[in-house]
Amino acid sequence: VAIPSSEGRKRVLSGMRPTGKLHLGNYMGALHNWVRLQDPYDCYFFIADWHALTTDYADPSQIPANTREVILDYLAAGLDPEGSVLFIQSHIPQHAEFHLLLSMITSIGWLERVPSYKEQQENLKDRDLSTYGFLGYPLLQAADILIYQPDYVPVGQDQAAHVELTREIARRFNQFYKRPDGSEILPEPQVLLTPSPKLPGTDGRKMSKSYGNTILLSDPEPEIRAKLKPMVTDPARVRRTDPGNPDKCPVGDLHKIFSSQETLAKVYDGCTTAGIGCIECKSWAADAIVQHLAPIQQRRTHFEQNPALVTEILADGDRRARARAEQTMQQVRSAMGLATTTPAGISESSPAV
Ligand code: SF4
Repeated sequence: VAIPSSEGRKRVLSGMRPTGKLHLGNYMGALHNWVRLQDPYDCYFFIADWHALTTDYADPSQIPANTREVILDYLAAGLDPEGSVLFIQSHIPQHAEFHLLLSMITSIGWLERVPSYKEQQENLKDRDLSTYGFLGYPLLQAADILIYQPDYVPVGQDQAAHVELTREIARRFNQFYKRPDGSEILPEPQVLLTPSPKLPGTDGRKMSKSYGNTILLSDPEPEIRAKLKPMVTDPARVRRTDPGNPDKCPVGDLHKIFSSQETLAKVYDGCTTAGIGCIECKSWAADAIVQHLAPIQQRRTHFEQNPALVTEILADGDRRARARAEQTMQQVRSAMGLATTTPAGISESSPAV
């Protein structure tokens, strides 16, 4: 690592787009893991509001409110602003500068080959995504990552290709530019694969905002129970007397994640012998989820009621992130032959290596 982390600890960075209130899928797929990473690592977690513009540029009206909801969910889930740096991407202009500089060395072919480029264009047919910003978003992501010189980027399997592109860009940068002592500026970050259990939505498909099948971290108890009631189950259980199999049932998947071993044993026994009905089984799943979300919702209420505290947390995170990003940018500007600013505020040319 180019810059030693505080106390010599390894550094981790990850972020999410501001999509509004987060759901259990976001939690189990990322946030839950991030919370655990805070202990062993120096963590940077951000909200990628510029990334939201790559697809929502025509109507950005929801971005401020969505950003607010995501920061509340970050804090509610247990991200600790004392230890971790929590910040908003667009508050750190160095990301944009670095994106521009990295664009000088990035082949268009690399960006066109990112699998999500074509996929997203197919999926979001109602929008014109033939923009420069949309093509360049994996590069912006590379800038977001490399500017903090992290050791690890925790992502799900679907994002691993993006981190690979980031590594490729770091290698290309390091081929061209070095520190005056000849050492490399950008370490290649490693993927830290997030173990994400299968988390079905209420219709049995993957939980996703676009499917409208989510359970939000902030859903009140009656809402959670109401959402689980019509949830799809093992199709073999047509009648109450038909035995079923929790391994073939989305409700069974929820039990595996949230229920105690004792409840899980009752589910297997009751389901396979038709000893319990699905309504009862779903109410147990709801109990487990409600119990799991209780401390999260308590923390959310605390932060919702203290908006000044949230503003203070973000201001502190922005300040810490900016300091770290600027450290990298000073090395980058100097290595790329750009003017650097002296402490007296006078610009002078700094030669490339
Ligand atoms: S009893 Fe539970 S696990 Fe079995 S099919 Fe019904 S909801 Fe699914």
